[in-house]
Amino acid sequence: MLQNPVEFFKQLPQKECAECGQMIEEQAESYLMECDHCLSKRDE
Ligand SMILES: [Zn+2]
Repeated sequence: MLQNPVEFFKQLPQKECAECGQMIEEQAESYLMECDHCLSKRDE
């Protein structure tokens, strides 16, 4: 049986935004621990 790439990604722990606790679903290669919303707020 072939390995399903979707199953592989489902095994990855979901990242949570360190600021608001919202789940971060994309950016697997990102080192950032905050969601886009909080990151944009920090830009001010
Ligand atoms: Zn956030």
